[in-house]
Amino acid sequence: MNKLIPAIVSDIDGVLVRGKSIIPNSDTVVKQLLNCHFTNGSRHNIRIPFYLLTNGGGCTELEKANSLNKIMGSNFKRNHIFLNYTPLRPIMNEYQNRLILICGAGKLTEIAKDCDLKYFYTIDEYSALYDQVAFKQYDPEMIRQYEADIKQRKMEQMRNKQIEAVFIVFDPIKWEESVQTISNLVKVNKDIPIYVVNNDVTYADQFKLPRLAFGTFTNTLISILRKEYNINPNIIYYGKPSLNTFRYVQSYIHEKHENIGNIYMIGDNPASDIRGANTIGWPSLLVRSGVFRGGDNDPKDPGKYVVKDLMEAYNKILQLEGLKVVQ
Ligand SMILES: [Mg+2]
Repeated sequence: MNKLIPAIVSDIDGVLVRGKSIIPNSDTVVKQLLNCHFTNGSRHNIRIPFYLLTNGGGCTELEKANSLNKIMGSNFKRNHIFLNYTPLRPIMNEYQNRLILICGAGKLTEIAKDCDLKYFYTIDEYSALYDQVAFKQYDPEMIRQYEADIKQRKMEQMRNKQIEAVFIVFDPIKWEESVQTISNLVKVNKDIPIYVVNNDVTYADQFKLPRLAFGTFTNTLISILRKEYNINPNIIYYGKPSLNTFRYVQSYIHEKHENIGNIYMIGDNPASDIRGANTIGWPSLLVRSGVFRGGDNDPKDPGKYVVKDLMEAYNKILQLEGLKVVQ
């Protein structure tokens, strides 16, 4: 009989690392999950599928794996990592031969190319070349560079085409350009899909007071489009805790591995990691090594289990599943 095997999905920041430092013992757990076999008493060659799911992005999955490996001494590969835009890859694939706008901070051109997009403008390129905002000085050298980049992508065959979708793949930091350009596109085509990869309203990080996060940009855009143009934009939400993201990860795991039983989610953020896991029905483990520092459990988005850290979460899962590491 083939006993079902659990899979583990973990958040990164606040569980594995905090900024650039390892959270104690998380490297030991990672090493075991990536390299060891487990036994359930009768089978001794069990591997536990282990994936990372983060609302971070702004780089490729390979870069994220490499930077994490540098910090942790681990051997994550690109396909261990789901960044905020990773679940959009199949949708981006449908836009391979169509014109799109890609927005947000980070390495947009590299992300677009890594997602096999051919005909795209980054928000900086589009804004500087076709939709400049008032009072901003545009460096002629930078404009020449944008023109050269676009030429290299053979964009002239798209010259008379409309932009068909907007992908905001990381926090927009140039709000004015983004709001203006996206609003102008929506005015021409009110149904244009706008994909966003994060809906957090604030984030804490190292700051004394919480900072406005991606979600406030989307709310601003919606509000402007409604108030000024009476348009309800077609926004499609991804990123934790959206069901779109959790469903994508679940299908991916079932596609890659046979006999998957429970998928466990380990996270430090009740409103994102735990809410998403609880909504899709994965057993959730809330750790105390990051955002959550509360009492027994989070009142709004309670973890199924509350544990100290990744090590405790890992031991709990092994115990629940009757698994032991093969030394
Ligand atoms: Mg976190």
